Amino acid sequence: MLNIVLFGPPGAGKGTQSERLINRYGLVHLSTGDIFRSNIKGQTDLGNLAKGYLDQGKLVPDSVTIDLLRAEVMKHQTAKGFIFDGFPRTNAQAEALDVFLESMNTGITVMLSLDVEEDELKSRLIKRAEVSGRADDADPKIIDNRIAVYHKETAPVKSFYEKQGKLISIQGMGSVDEITERLFVSIDAL
Ligand code: AMP
Repeated sequence: MLNIVLFGPPGAGKGTQSERLINRYGLVHLSTGDIFRSNIKGQTDLGNLAKGYLDQGKLVPDSVTIDLLRAEVMKHQTAKGFIFDGFPRTNAQAEALDVFLESMNTGITVMLSLDVEEDELKSRLIKRAEVSGRADDADPKIIDNRIAVYHKETAPVKSFYEKQGKLISIQGMGSVDEITERLFVSIDAL
């Protein structure tokens, strides 16, 4: 299996690039943020629980997110591999993912981490708000909170995979096509 963690701060382009990678490599795209948003829209129990966290730009608790991710992976028993987008966001999630994938006799192949300057992140998120309708993109205070949460809780996940020799940093500035090309080159060289 080819299992990719596509990593980076909010606005790094994980969702956009994931779409391109699944087309080329035939992978299943799992975005925990997308799953939470569709549950919020459908007013499910999970959505009602998650809503307050998303609205404030805080992380949904690990136990909820890990159970959700496991259930989603199990829905795709015949997948050639996965792109994990927005997961893992804490070391506890990364550890749980390793244990879970090992139980399926597989593991994470690589973490591709998109490096983007902070000013660029903010301007991309504000621009995205116009089309996404996402409340957490439209409010500069919530954007700042999400970036702060990223630095405090999520950035350490990079070291988790670096210690396993699985981290590849990708320059995430430039055009969407240029960044896609960099990702393709890195994956093709695996
Ligand atoms: P995203 O679409 O990846 O930007 O995620 C939007 C929001 O969903 C985040 O700000 C969190 O509130 C929540 N979320 C998404 N993925 C996770 C995760 N792995 N752990 C905790 N919360 C998450």
